[in-house]
Amino acid sequence: MSRKTYSQQTSLIHSHGYDRHTGAVSIPLYHATTFHQQDFDQFGTYDYSRSGNPTREALEDTIAELEGGVRGFAFSSGMAAISTTFMMLSQGDHVLISEEVYGGTYRLITEVLNRFGIQYSFVDMGDLHEVARAIRVNTKVIYIETPSNPLLNITDIEGIVKLAKANDCLTFLDNTFMTPLLQRPLSLGVDVVLHSATKFLAGHSDVLAGLAVTGCNQVAEKLAFLQNSFGAVLGPQDSWLLLRGLKTLHVRLKQSSESASKIARFLEARNEVEEVYYPGLSYHKGYKTHVRQAEGPGAVLSFRLKSEREVRELKRHVNIPVFAVSLGAVESILSYPAKMSHASMPKEERERRGITDGLLRLSVGLENADELISDLSHGLNSINLSSPKKVIHL
Ligand SMILES: *Cc1c(COP(=O)(O)O)cnc(C)c1O
Repeated sequence: MSRKTYSQQTSLIHSHGYDRHTGAVSIPLYHATTFHQQDFDQFGTYDYSRSGNPTREALEDTIAELEGGVRGFAFSSGMAAISTTFMMLSQGDHVLISEEVYGGTYRLITEVLNRFGIQYSFVDMGDLHEVARAIRVNTKVIYIETPSNPLLNITDIEGIVKLAKANDCLTFLDNTFMTPLLQRPLSLGVDVVLHSATKFLAGHSDVLAGLAVTGCNQVAEKLAFLQNSFGAVLGPQDSWLLLRGLKTLHVRLKQSSESASKIARFLEARNEVEEVYYPGLSYHKGYKTHVRQAEGPGAVLSFRLKSEREVRELKRHVNIPVFAVSLGAVESILSYPAKMSHASMPKEERERRGITDGLLRLSVGLENADELISDLSHGLNSINLSSPKKVIHL
């Protein structure tokens, strides 16, 4: 089908077309690792599956189209996509990173890349002046996550891109929370968009995968070379599963976002909840910027209870969400950043970033929203019922 004329909703279903040999509407799963060559002078399109596999390629073309890029790359995990992309850097280069970057990316930069002579500094990406001040002569990449995890802080993408271009830096953006349906960073000038496709894109908590997309042919060539050199490619079976998951992305995200908005409004009205973080609330910090650069608030929100005691009480009384790390799945996932995603961060550092012992993150799934709300309501009610009695020590 001719692509440009259709919405993402339609191209999600049709972007990779039909199998050219059989007309199969589901892309065939090519398990082959090697491909017969007619002649040693003239190799075919595929030779070895690390370098290229037809099933993986269908996925790579699909994500490139969704993000509006020239080429997509599929990796064995989000971290594999991020790590491979960082290999564009060389010894002595410097990276500016958002303070609230995903924990795995934080670890890669501070405990792996540093050993190869790649320097880094963390900045508050919400403050363009601070970012401008932190740029050095050897800064080669500015790394953005917006909305950030777990406080959903917003970065002005175009503001950062402008600074980056003026200083000859590339911008990488982790678009996991938004997906290309809600935010298309390449159209705002970002050089590489990254995904943990493990989350919304695959959507069913059963595939670990990562994607990278660029709108620049030169960067695409570098990424293709690195993908093949480093070799952390996505297998054909997982590529196929991810393609399958993608077909329902539009309805999943629409439904989950609607429920998340409802839940955010429910939570903000509850006395037990001190704060709600959700880019769909008009008083959310960065709301205006988010509305300008994205098409929806997404399906992840966080909220703050008073302390760990309240968190324990709530956790004990809610039944529907699974209590786990990860997000972006058909099932709602409740997680506790202080002891899960940010457990390795020193308490002081963690609290300075607003990740206190009372903070919970909820990734809203596809359950009935009213049932989710009454489940949470039951959990919050239990906090009041169990308010600690005054203990008199004799
Ligand atoms: C999960 C996640 C990653 C890492 O992806 P994996 O698929 O787990 O390797 C990176 N960034 C964000 C924002 C994530 O949520």
